[in-house]
Amino acid sequence: MNNSKLPQYDYDIIIIGGGPAGFTAGIYAARTGFKTLLLEGASTVSQITITDMIENYPGIPDGINGLDLMELFRKQALKFDLEIKAEDATAIKNNESYPHIWDVTAGSKVFRTFSIIAATGARWRNLEVPGEQEFAGKGISYCATCDGPFYRDREVVVIGGGDSAIQEALFLTHFASRVTVVHRRDRLRAAGILQKRAFAEKKIEFAWNATLDEVVGGEFVTGVKVRDVVSGEQRTIDAEGVFIFAGRLPHTGIFQNILQLDKTGYIITDDAMKTSAAGIFAAGDCRAKLFRQVVTATGDGANAAFSAELYIDNLKEEAY
Ligand code: NAP
Repeated sequence: MNNSKLPQYDYDIIIIGGGPAGFTAGIYAARTGFKTLLLEGASTVSQITITDMIENYPGIPDGINGLDLMELFRKQALKFDLEIKAEDATAIKNNESYPHIWDVTAGSKVFRTFSIIAATGARWRNLEVPGEQEFAGKGISYCATCDGPFYRDREVVVIGGGDSAIQEALFLTHFASRVTVVHRRDRLRAAGILQKRAFAEKKIEFAWNATLDEVVGGEFVTGVKVRDVVSGEQRTIDAEGVFIFAGRLPHTGIFQNILQLDKTGYIITDDAMKTSAAGIFAAGDCRAKLFRQVVTATGDGANAAFSAELYIDNLKEEAY
């Protein structure tokens, strides 16, 4: 494809991030015949890989483990010869000689590409209390939509007082027998309408002015130790599930001075996944949007790949 009027380049598209959004973009771009590299990140893992069971991804009626689903994405991508490197992208900048080329540094190399798809994801903020790591996937969850149905007629605790915590607490009342919202202040951050619904819901109780000291249990979670920030007293709340919604952190540091981000650090895009920089598209959890699920990430990935393909086709046409 390198014709004389085009600068030398290594890839048509470089996808940064190896979660569902990144792999879907990779499947689409490689299948269409674009020379595509996916950098799946040496130091980060997709949130999907810590999800024990995904029951709401269409087409898989018996549900699937997150790692197993990722393996299927990978297998499908390799079928279309997607190139995958287990490396982090550490720097991105416009090529000094060719404004249409982006230089992406990964490991000791710099790759030249026409287009970048940012699919770097986000992660839930950890509270870094004893038991949080130990019981990950054994009663601690960061996704009520994914794991709520496992807690039918059981007692659960939700940590946090924002929109996510309250929305997810309301969702959990469809399954759990009791939902205790543990919040570090005496008032919620969540939107008024969510607060109103939560206060009217009989299954929801509140532990105000309480911080999480520890998650306790044996093989699985049995409860949480919380501390009253006013009296300093500690008490245990029995629960088989602990849902932590203390905010999310998008992995967008590498794009900070290149792309327009919202005030919480997510990449702003239009419906076609275009960012504020020509040739860079974003997909999945790193993008500013309402609903972060595997199915919305894969949709974003397909859209981002399609937009990148159109962008590159136009560039190449102009070069003829
Ligand atoms: P958030 O608004 O940042 O709320 C995080 C919550 O966790 C806050 O209540 C915060 O307490 C608490 N928290 C943070 N660090 C903590 C710690 N170390 N220990 C204990 N508690 C801690 O995050 P979010 O609820 O995930 O929402 C993120 C964004 O998405 C927001 O802009 C939100 O409006 C939006 N969102 C919208 C919807 C919707 O429109 N339906 C749904 C979900 C999310 P404090 O209140 O004391 O700070």
